[in-house]
Order: sequence, then C-alpha cells, then structure tokens
Amino acid sequence: MSASPVRLRPEILAQAAYQQGKPARANDFKLSSNELPFAPTPRVLDAVAGVSEYNRYPDASARVVRERLAERFGVSPDEVLIGNGSVSLLYQAVLATSGPGDEVVYPWRSFEAYPGMAVVAGATSVQVPLTAGHALDLDAMADAVTERTRLVIVCTPNNPTGTTVQQADLDAFLDRIPSDVLVIVDEAYAEFVTTPGAVDATAYLGKRPNVILARTFSKAWGLAGLRIGYFIGDATVLQALRTAGIPLSVTGVAQAAALAALDDEPVIRERVAEIVERRGEIQAALREQGWDVPDSDANFVWLPTGERTAEIEGVFREHGVIVRALGDGIRVSIGEAEATDPLLAAAAEAIGRFPELARA
Ligand code: PMP
Repeated sequence: MSASPVRLRPEILAQAAYQQGKPARANDFKLSSNELPFAPTPRVLDAVAGVSEYNRYPDASARVVRERLAERFGVSPDEVLIGNGSVSLLYQAVLATSGPGDEVVYPWRSFEAYPGMAVVAGATSVQVPLTAGHALDLDAMADAVTERTRLVIVCTPNNPTGTTVQQADLDAFLDRIPSDVLVIVDEAYAEFVTTPGAVDATAYLGKRPNVILARTFSKAWGLAGLRIGYFIGDATVLQALRTAGIPLSVTGVAQAAALAALDDEPVIRERVAEIVERRGEIQAALREQGWDVPDSDANFVWLPTGERTAEIEGVFREHGVIVRALGDGIRVSIGEAEATDPLLAAAAEAIGRFPELARA
C-alpha cells in the first residue's frame, strides 16, 4: 500500500477493511455471502416500485416498520431500532458503549465485521476462541469479562460455523455478566434455527434490560441488497445507539420492502424451510464424504479445511462454486437446488485430495 498523503489513525491503517466474498463469474454459483437464492417476491417488487418520491428524505426513524415489528414482538415501538443493515446497528452499539480503554468481548472466529468495529471505536477487542467443536465457549467468554468490558457480542447461530448456543446456557451466562454491560445477541440467522432448546433472544425482552437482540431482513427475508436490519431492547439504550448512528441512512425503499416482506411471511417461511431441508441433505452428504461438519442452524455450513483452505477454495472455484475462505475453514452458503451437485462434487474432490481432513 502506498503511503497516505494525510495523517490517519494508525490503528485504522493497520486494520484491513471489510472483505466481501470473491465475485462470481457468469455461470458460477455464488455461495459466499449467505444470501438467499430466491428472487424478491412480487409483493416486495411492487412495494419497491411504489416508492417514487426520491426527492424527499425517508422517515428517519422508520416509524411504520418499528410499529410493525413492535406488534410482532410484543414490545413498544421505541424498543425497536431500525438500521441500514444490522451491521450498521452493531457499529452504533460499539460506538455508543466503548471507547479507548474499553473492551468488547466476542467469540472468534465469528462475524468478520466485529474486529473492525472495535478498531473504529478506538476500543480493544477481546476475542474468545471457539471450542474444538466450533461452538461459542460461553464459560471462557464470561471469564474474559473484566471491569473494562462495555459490550459482549453473542453470535448464535455463529457465522461462519453455524453452531447455536442453548438457551439454558445463555441464561447461565447472562447471570455471570454485570447487569450494566450491554450484551448483543446477534441472531442474523434466527429464522433458520431448528435445534431444540437453541437460543431465541426474544425470551429476554422486558426481562433483561442489558440484552439487545439483533436481527436482519438480509438473510431469511431476502433483502440483503436493500440494507435493513433491527435491534430490539431497552428504549433508553436504543436511544443512545441512535445518537451514535448516521441519520437518515435507512431508505424509504428498504422500509417499504421490509413491510412487504413481512406481509409475505408465509412465502418466506416456505423458502426458509426449503433451505433448511437442503442444509440437512448437504450436511449429511458431506459427512458421508468424511467431512467433519459442525451441526449448522443457519443457511450455510462450515468445512474445517485447516492449512488447505486456499487450495480447497480453488477446487470449489474449478467446479463453478464460489465459497468463502475464512482463516482455517470454508463457509459454504446453502443456495439454489442446482448448486448442490457441483458443491458436493467439489467437496468430494477436495477431501479425496486431502484425506487427512477426514474425520478420525
Ligand atoms: N450479523 C451476522 C452474524 C452476520 O453474518 C451478518 C451478515 N453477514 C450481519 C450481522 C449483518 O447483516 P446485515 O447488515 O445485512 O443486516
């Protein structure tokens, strides 16, 4: 990188910017960004087409969407905060809670955007390694909380490993966290969860004011390109997060699309069911091939590829499948039905080439 012509914060210079998955070629299957493979529903397309006053600013507080979600979750509208994707709200939470000298505790490996958020806020990341089974280590996370901790992020299902935390375990964990430390339960993939007893953070609404649940319209609801997500939690906390956000960043189009998607819930549920069924088939086939795949509750699966990650990403690419290489593993999103055969063919070739990766 060439030297900057102006003085910049050294910690920002040292941090890599958020990396998107590799671009797909024309006929590739793009299984690198956990998107749904379905086109927006006609109702969503109509709602988007119905917005035309682009010369006007959107409703800054997304009141109608907040009211709709408030009704859905049995809270008041000021207990809902809408953001330009839940990633924006996560940044707001870090900025509102943590500055220099403060610590943000989160699992690692987890959502790739977490480290950058702490850097931007000038706060210190405390990354708590996953267990050998690729799951969150809640005991270690609770142990990592100190008097400097201002924010704890619990990602369940965890991106990129797909594992979930059990509600009873999260209850016990929250009992160990000081009640003045904000805990965000990042449930971006909540709608895909099927494991009995897995966390549903709505259980904490109105009960634990230091807990916020984070959800998004990007995954199950199929609106990744429009950028809209939400937090639900204590109104005073959310008000502070609003202060830390960029005003007017949620467009009217995104708000209209979110409302239409909620109206289309039965279709959305069918789509989610299709992905969940495919996830089961793909997991079973990968295990049959010998892969040590953790149980996923999300719309992706995790292949622990270790030092072979870059080579195996290339094998997928040769098969026309774009996947996400992240450190010592590869995350493969569950996509369209037609993607399954090439995905499994690539995985079979990879484990054939590197049999040391097979389960003992
Ligand atoms: N949290 C997690 C765990 C995610 O995986 C993602 C998307 N990759 C997000 C939050 C952000 O999603 P969005 O900003 O699209 O709502």
